[in-house]
Amino acid sequence: MYQANTKRYEQMQYNRVGKSGLKLPALSLGLWHNFGDTDYFQNQKEIILGAFDLGITHFDLANNYGPPAGSAESNFGRMLREELGAYRDELIISSKAGYYMWEGPYGEWGSKKSIIASCDQSLKRVGVEYFDIFYHHRPDYETPLEETARALDLLVQQGKALYIGVSNYDAQRTLEISQLFKQLGTPFIIHQPNYNMFDRWIEEELVEVLEAEGIGAIVYSPLAQGLLTNKYLHGIPEHSRASRSDSPFLNEEKVEKTLTSVSKLNELAAARGQTLAEMALAWNLRLKSVASVIVGASSLKQLEDNVKCLENVAFTDQELQAIDQLLKE
Ligand code: NDP
Repeated sequence: MYQANTKRYEQMQYNRVGKSGLKLPALSLGLWHNFGDTDYFQNQKEIILGAFDLGITHFDLANNYGPPAGSAESNFGRMLREELGAYRDELIISSKAGYYMWEGPYGEWGSKKSIIASCDQSLKRVGVEYFDIFYHHRPDYETPLEETARALDLLVQQGKALYIGVSNYDAQRTLEISQLFKQLGTPFIIHQPNYNMFDRWIEEELVEVLEAEGIGAIVYSPLAQGLLTNKYLHGIPEHSRASRSDSPFLNEEKVEKTLTSVSKLNELAAARGQTLAEMALAWNLRLKSVASVIVGASSLKQLEDNVKCLENVAFTDQELQAIDQLLKE
């Protein structure tokens, strides 16, 4: 029977999410890739239990994570039943609805019908009574925003979610839904956008809205799916995400396009005494709004390395300028 590392809370940093009462680990683990039925369960187990031993208390899921869709939730549920169940109150488990999940008009987007049904399915797959955070996964411009907000609020009233978040919403839409949630009294505390050195869109307007509204950010793909590591410096290794056919967002072309910047960033990281992955994660955490970065991992070793970013999260002005300059080239 699994016994958690007794020192797990000594090594992790926990940050408050916006103005809420919730704190999240600076690094959270996402189960988008590597936790489906096509991946080895034993490796999944090693990563998840190892993550918890490192003080990573937050695991991020969605209805459609797999493949096949739904299997990451089922596999995580199995892990909870078999190993982690005793620690449920030490875990923050999130899931989401919004992307395509099942056939017909209710299997995606943001209607009340879709969100409530999807959350019920996810709760069953994970085998929990509630999610700590439940997200609307992407904006739906056809459904009235108030309907989506009320559906998410209902989940809280029904005890199926403790906190509510949105993901992939732009600044304007975030502000609009935040105002609706305020009227409803919904604990809308968190936004999940993508953010990394190669994609800085949140700095334009979103961060300002989040700060004004007291909402925290948890950013996804902080390593640009592995580009911001030393992994692709000498080509595309076998079994890497860029080499997998079930990974449509990362490919050889992207690897080649970023190679020059990645090599230079790698040198900059070395000068700071860090790996590129460590520097990229620390850089994301420099924003006040960012409570946590959700990393993905295909091995426990990657996670162990990434957690070391916390040993140096401070940047000098010169370092920040050098990074800005390099990213503009
Ligand atoms: P990352 O940018 O952290 O990429 C993770 C990948 O980078 C790993 O699978 C691994 O690739 C590689 N990697 C990680 N650490 C190292 C290391 N130390 N050395 C070398 N390579 C490393 O994040 P993801 O894109 O995986 O996203 C993280 C999570 O964010 C998801 O699981 C999900 O929970 C969430 N997310 C949310 C979305 C949304 O719409 N809300 C969309 C996308 C993600 P490899 O597998 O090749 O080894």
